This record gives sequence, C-alpha cells and structure tokens, in this order.
Amino acid sequence: MGIGRDPGTAVVRSAAAAVALALVVAASGCTGESSTPDTASGEPLSVTELGWVREYSDWTIDVYDEEFDSPPGRELVDECRERLDEVGPPPTERLEPSWERAAAVCPLLSEPGSLRRAKDVVEDADDLVLPFFIDSKELVLGESGTDRSRADLRLSALASTAVDFSQEVRCWSDEDWRRLIREDNAWSVDSEDPDELYGWQDSDTDRIHMRLDQCNLLHRLGSEDVLRWKRDDQIEAADSLATFAHEIQHVLLPDADEDQVECAAAKELRRFARRLDATGDEAGQLAQLYVTDAREELPDDYLSSCDESTG
Ligand SMILES: [Zn+2]
Repeated sequence: MGIGRDPGTAVVRSAAAAVALALVVAASGCTGESSTPDTASGEPLSVTELGWVREYSDWTIDVYDEEFDSPPGRELVDECRERLDEVGPPPTERLEPSWERAAAVCPLLSEPGSLRRAKDVVEDADDLVLPFFIDSKELVLGESGTDRSRADLRLSALASTAVDFSQEVRCWSDEDWRRLIREDNAWSVDSEDPDELYGWQDSDTDRIHMRLDQCNLLHRLGSEDVLRWKRDDQIEAADSLATFAHEIQHVLLPDADEDQVECAAAKELRRFARRLDATGDEAGQLAQLYVTDAREELPDDYLSSCDESTG
C-alpha cells in the first residue's frame, strides 16, 4: 500500500470486532500518570507482543469471516485448532487471558448452529487485547494547538455537523501516531507506513484519526493571516484541509472508492476552510494550492477523472 490519506477499509476487520472496539473503555483516565501496567496507559505492547497479536488477529479474522476450508463439524474444529496452535501461546502473561478465552472458540465450530456463538467468544477474547492499544485511551479533550495527543473539540464538532452524526477527531503526536499505526497494523494484519499515512476514518468507532501537526495547522487558519504564510506552509495547510475533508467524505460516502472520496473532498475545501474561519480569499488560495501543489502528491488510486473544480 502506498502513500495515502488512509488505509481504506483495511482497518475494519469485521462488524463484530468493531463493536468490541467501540465498547472498550480505557481503564485509566486522562493523565496517563497512574501506571496501570496492563492497559493502554501502561507499557505499550512490545514488537514481540505485537507479532503475536498479528498472528492471533489473522486467526480471528478467519473465524469472523468464516475463511476456514472445512464445513462445520470435526474437520473444522481440527482446522481451527491447528491454526490456533500455529499462533501459539502469547509471549507475555498479560496477553494470556485472551489466549485462554480463544481456546473456547474452536469447539463451537462443530455445529452449524453454534458458529455465531464462536464469534461471540472471539469478541470476548478480542476485548482482552484491545485495552492495550493506544486508541483505547480516553484522550484529553482539547480546543486548540497542543503538543500532546488530544481529541479535538472543534474539529470533532465540525465533522459531526458535516455528517449529522457524532464523530471524534483524534489528533496524534508523532510518537503516538507511530504507536497507533504499529498497533493497527498488527490488529488488521496490515502494513501501513506511519510516514506515508495522513489519516483515516474508523467507521466502527466513529473516529477520525489525524496527525497533530495537521490538526494544529487547521486551528491557525482562523487566527492568522494565511496569505502572509510561506508558500510551503500554505500548501501544508491545504493538505491538512484536504485530509480533514477526505475523512469526512468517507462517512458521507461509506461505499465510495478513494478517488470518489477525494473528488468529493476537493469540492468541499473552500467551505471547510470558511468553517474554520479562514477568509474567503484564504479559502480560495488553499483550494487553489490543493489543485496545483497538493493533489499531485496523492497516489494514483486517489486520483480520478473527476473535474478539478474546487467549488
Ligand atoms: Zn480515504
């Protein structure tokens, strides 16, 4: 997967997992100072642990998506067990509860009528992994430019209004962003590059993930004279605006391809800039720079034959 605003639907591994993710509540609150060692507030999962999570996820996705070869019955139970044996026990004690819960899944594949129950059990097991992820943190709700990750009150409100359904825009510091992508890659059995990813919308959690510097730039649009900024900064602002608009379009157009989403976003840039209190001239300049300088950086599957009118 190349450069992109988001990994598309790759993040969504199943509706069931989605609900699980949505229900996760961070065990420790906003400061992160109390050390609850076994959750997102504690030590991040190590490379070795994430390697195990990836193998475990690969197995759970097969269960959720019913990807095993055998029909329900003894053969399917055996196939499921063999795959789980390949995953093997987790490298650390804190992941053992999920492993132990997962062991109850395979026997449920013996009957067609208990397949659904098997997925419920996988969901239970998943619930024991998810709290270790940084996205389980209850990020501090913040209004403006910070140097720490935050759930952005203003951008969340704007996004929620735009789609008429509440969304949380999560703005991640560079360090947290890397952890977020690392964990999501393991969870989704994916290989996104944190340096090439700008954001994504998670339809399961109604969250839009963005980089903190892009969020902070959007906050400056209303309070500074953007037309006096250096051109590179203006282009970066145009790009930030496009990321924000793009992820919102994913909510409005849940089945659209990346290029359709990007086209729809391009048409909204001016309006979004104005909603962020840019002047009409500033909004026009950013929309123009998107066309002349930012858009060409996108990978091919984000570009289409849509006209380049920016509304
Ligand atoms: Zn996208």
